[in-house]
Amino acid sequence: MEEYLPQVETLVVGPLAVCCYVVYDPESREGVVIDPGGDPEKILSRVAELGLKIKWILGTHGHADHVSAAGDLRRSLSAPYALHRADEDFFTRGEGASIFLSWGFPPNPPADETFEEGASFSFGRFSLSVIHTPGHSPGSVCFYDGGKLLFTGDTLFVGAVGRGDLPGGDYFQMMRSIREKLLVLPEETVVLPGHDYGSRPTSTIGREKRENPFIQEFL
Ligand SMILES: [Zn+2]
Ligand SMILES: [Zn+2]
Repeated sequence: MEEYLPQVETLVVGPLAVCCYVVYDPESREGVVIDPGGDPEKILSRVAELGLKIKWILGTHGHADHVSAAGDLRRSLSAPYALHRADEDFFTRGEGASIFLSWGFPPNPPADETFEEGASFSFGRFSLSVIHTPGHSPGSVCFYDGGKLLFTGDTLFVGAVGRGDLPGGDYFQMMRSIREKLLVLPEETVVLPGHDYGSRPTSTIGREKRENPFIQEFL
């Protein structure tokens, strides 16, 4: 039987080399863009080459390196940009913005919609649902396709975990989120992180359980 999976394209964007994912249904050509952290023209030209209709522009969290190009994409693609409510409040409108401004990032574009745990975003035959995994930031989330793919942002990397020391962050809360909400997913779930910091670009929940030293230390 043919495998029933969305297609995933990875584009490394922006000054901090964020993994921006274009996820789409190869039949309907509907898709979403996750973490447009920069280089909007690079993302737009790939979307055009693939002939996609982008339904949503999604941020795993409100750090500017993950959402800086959301405003440009929204204008060009006529798709809404959505972020977890807690990060929209803290980083786009609140005190969390200043650190990214001081690092030379422009202010975050305001989200068209905010979401919370359990929200879902559909494209073609597929959808991604929101798993709220606070700790790297208050509104950090992972996007899960309900079967195989898990986009983990800066919460879980291949062989590492996110920082907990940025404004609004809490390392122990992040480790609890990983343990209680991510490690409970099927072992074969593919982990697609927000940066390629590991020995390979993607991993699985089972491999991270066995090999990730930060998880080993915490369990
Ligand atoms: Zn981050
Ligand atoms: Zn990041």
